[in-house]
Amino acid sequence: MEIISGVALSRNIKEEIKEEVSGFLDQGLRKPKLVAVLVGLDGPSQTYVNAKVKDCHQVGFESEAIRLDESTSEEELLSWVKKLNEDASVDGFIVQLPLPKKIDETKILLAIDPLKDVDGFHPVNIGNMALGLPGFVPATPAGVMQMLDRSGIETSGKHCVIVGRSKIVGMPLSILLARNSNPGNCTVTLTHSRTKNLEEICKEADILIAALGKPGFIKADMVKKGAVVIDVGISRVETDTNEKGYLIQGDVDFNSVSDKVSFISPVPGGVGPMTRTSLLTNTLRAYKRSFNLN
Ligand code: NDP
Repeated sequence: MEIISGVALSRNIKEEIKEEVSGFLDQGLRKPKLVAVLVGLDGPSQTYVNAKVKDCHQVGFESEAIRLDESTSEEELLSWVKKLNEDASVDGFIVQLPLPKKIDETKILLAIDPLKDVDGFHPVNIGNMALGLPGFVPATPAGVMQMLDRSGIETSGKHCVIVGRSKIVGMPLSILLARNSNPGNCTVTLTHSRTKNLEEICKEADILIAALGKPGFIKADMVKKGAVVIDVGISRVETDTNEKGYLIQGDVDFNSVSDKVSFISPVPGGVGPMTRTSLLTNTLRAYKRSFNLN
């Protein structure tokens, strides 16, 4: 059994990005710039935004976190989006989700210029992804694809079962893995909360991807011997064993499942760091596009 270290893989990708950026700076170009907009005081969102800013600095990007008050209105947020769309010094930006309930998330996502939508959530980018056209692929699915590719995992002809069909993880992953490309060419089964015989279906997977948000849901008896298991789940589970008062857990019961599989990604240290790195990759792509460097 091999543990796929998202930490090690993302370190390599960051080194590659850093080298590329340094080459552009040597040519006299400015740094790539990523902006994250955060509305309110949601704890995990603050952690994610801080991590994104830190990642940018590590690879030589400029970055900025725009922290808006919880009381920010939809109109105010839309005017920030407009400003960022028009700011030529900003290559890409994200509006950290979830947003306060009174703000319509779809309205905000639709207002983002698809060419700066480095989260890849805009319908134009989802459409481009589905058609295999250039565009931004959502960060977590892109991170999983990199993980499979860089770990040398053969996907062609394999049966891939994805548990969870969300717009940001399961659905785009199902498209990417079914595409006629490498990695890709899988036979994909996309499952969800209404799926019958989930256990049986999971047991048939050569590649099993868990993205449902239920800690420890995938047990050893749901997994085929020798399968590849990718755990996307991140849940905070209360504990009194540390000062934070919580542990981060994935959707896979790692201890029992890891004995049976050929590859498994851990949580933490698996898909999470790959997701963060994909955002950098997308930002660099946006930067290169604006300077015609492709
Ligand atoms: P959502 O809540 O948006 O979607 C969950 C999906 O799982 C839904 O499609 C739901 O089905 C399905 N589901 C729920 N319960 C079951 C069940 N018992 N059996 C089968 N399917 C089920 O979650 P996200 O996709 O946003 O996130 C999933 C997990 O991934 C979370 O833990 C999240 O924190 C984590 N995550 C991790 C990231 C990373 O970087 N590692 C990035 C993004 C998310 P239905 O559609 O029928 O409701």
